[in-house]
Amino acid sequence: MNVELLITGWLTANASLLREGASAEESIRFPVPAYVVETATERILVDTGLHPAAVADPAGFYGSPPGLALFGFEQELSIADQVDLTTITKVVLTHLHFDHAGALALVPAAVPVVVQRAEWAAGHDDAAIRRNFYLPQAYAGTERKVELVDGDHDLLGDGSVRLLLTPGHTPGHQSVRIGDLVLGADVTHFASGLDDHRFPVFGDDRAAQGRSAERLKGLRDAGLTVLPGHDADVLRPGPLLVGAARR
Ligand SMILES: [Zn+2]
Repeated sequence: MNVELLITGWLTANASLLREGASAEESIRFPVPAYVVETATERILVDTGLHPAAVADPAGFYGSPPGLALFGFEQELSIADQVDLTTITKVVLTHLHFDHAGALALVPAAVPVVVQRAEWAAGHDDAAIRRNFYLPQAYAGTERKVELVDGDHDLLGDGSVRLLLTPGHTPGHQSVRIGDLVLGADVTHFASGLDDHRFPVFGDDRAAQGRSAERLKGLRDAGLTVLPGHDADVLRPGPLLVGAARR
């Protein structure tokens, strides 16, 4: 089992947006990761990162939705520049925000995408779209097969890759556990969030997010490696160590 972390670009935003209680004077530049999980038979892409056309012209690509101008976009290499996307067998989206689902359209349409049912429903509901700052251009428009899952899910049926329902940041957010490695995604943007619960101010359900953070903290405290969503001090490109699950 191999897992590789790729950086698909960087976003910059005001610290007070990304971390409750942070100074509005400060801005934070943060990486946008994606992951390739390789098993004997599968090559799974977890999240897709930023779409290059969206980086080149965010307002033009997404139609100037409110809030988008709060983010600065940068990209050196898109996911397509780093992975032969024709070799991917499945895409797992942790959630539908543009920095996770954004480059889905670059993956061949024959590759199915796996999403929590609650997330997919929210991403196709007008009120939930506005509330969660979804940009449907990120995930709509292809004839791709969508595999909807409900709650925790054994992705390959052999326990090697487990989807963990970790809602709060968005209604159907999920994390991915591979052995003793947990891709926490945006349960917390920063590693410290598991302890201080200083979440971004734009989450869907703060209480649920707190419970999801407690869940991942429990795994971390049991000895697993839990990666945060966007922490520049933690997320470095390259292969990740995956050991056998210790519990
Ligand atoms: Zn994110």
